[in-house]
Amino acid sequence: MEDSVTATQSYSVTIVGGGLGGLTAALALRQRGLSVTVLEQAAELGEVGAGIQTAPNASRVLLGLGLRPQLEAIHTEPLDQVRRRWQDGSVIGLTALGDFCKRHYNAPYWHYHRADLHKVLLDSCLDPTGAGPVVEVRTGTRVVSIDQTDPARPAAVTQTGERFETDVLVGADGIRSRIRDALGMPDTLLFSGEMAYRALIPGDKIAADPATRWLVDRFQSTIWYGPDRHLVHYMIRGGELLNVVAIVPASREVEENWTATATVDELAGAFPGWDDRVVSMLEKAEGEISAWAMYHRRRDPVWVDGQVALLGDACHAMLPYQAQGASQAMEDAAVLAEELGAVTVDGVREALMRYVSRRAKHAGMVQEAAWRNMAFYHLPDGPEQRERDEKLKRFNGESDV
Ligand code: FAD
Repeated sequence: MEDSVTATQSYSVTIVGGGLGGLTAALALRQRGLSVTVLEQAAELGEVGAGIQTAPNASRVLLGLGLRPQLEAIHTEPLDQVRRRWQDGSVIGLTALGDFCKRHYNAPYWHYHRADLHKVLLDSCLDPTGAGPVVEVRTGTRVVSIDQTDPARPAAVTQTGERFETDVLVGADGIRSRIRDALGMPDTLLFSGEMAYRALIPGDKIAADPATRWLVDRFQSTIWYGPDRHLVHYMIRGGELLNVVAIVPASREVEENWTATATVDELAGAFPGWDDRVVSMLEKAEGEISAWAMYHRRRDPVWVDGQVALLGDACHAMLPYQAQGASQAMEDAAVLAEELGAVTVDGVREALMRYVSRRAKHAGMVQEAAWRNMAFYHLPDGPEQRERDEKLKRFNGESDV
């Protein structure tokens, strides 16, 4: 069903974190009639300058929130995903997306600029249609601790000492979640030893060069497989920009600082000996190039303590090698809203337990699949790599989403 659901309940939920997970949850909960406040540490809400893919599982959630017109206006749809060999660009696999996903999953596989998707969610939370109660969004509000003295009224406490008492507190505060720490949950983060360069390339520069024009199709998403590194690229904003994610072994600087900025030379130089067209493509990057340390959270099914729950990267941070981190957060949001929307305030504890039992196993499987992909994508040339490529060839025409 694509129309917004009917409001059924009325009690308060406070969400710490206004990222893609937090805002999807805010919107879904508001549509169930709950009174929702989002506390965000940043002075201004927004997202990094990069692309994002939503496979049918996440597109279905977003469309279920009644966002089709807004998403139609900002998405780019790939018809398929091609897998290429690092040295010469030869095709080792093709996965149908486009119409295949709509036919088989009844939901699309779409790409966006993250800022566009985040804005759609934020605007809908602020409800420009005037059709329902708005979500209260407080920026510049950094939560430093929680107070569960009264377990039925947990409070988020900010760095200025302000308290936000609520019926349900949700930690959607990302991979280094403060709420998770405040609950005393174990530190399950693992460094992968890898980092991701993120860059954007103007589509017209790609089109102007015959070498890259041949390689980059507006309707195709691409993954290059190579020894100890891989590369993903796809168009966003209808071909205006090519989004590039380049995964390589981490530099010491990125390992220590989590993020760094990088130069075009560094990015293009990270693929020595690769197909020349890859290097030509990367040399065309413009604007800020960032490098991010790649972390994974070990599977951990404890997401709830009383009337406080975690969502998104706070409970299941994963490597982006399945393009599913935000998508799993969106699934969390939909299930959380279904469960909380079905009870009165007296039933929220049981509802939160049902939320975890419906979500933790699946999110954990995706976390582990993304971790396994690290070795699968980065095999050195040899018998295992040839076996993998054969397997990918046999997979042609089917989608793994
Ligand atoms: P975040 O996006 O981290 O948001 C957390 C928010 O909480 C932030 O706004 C932060 O400022 C705020 N916050 C933090 N601490 C506090 C505090 N103490 N008080 C108040 N506010 C606070 N996923 C996909 O589904 N598809 C993809 O194609 C994809 N590609 C990716 C590519 C790369 C290179 C990477 C690194 C990740 C990718 N992901 C993808 C994963 C995805 O980006 C994350 O899983 C997702 O953004 C997590 O959303 P979140 O809302 O849980 O956390």
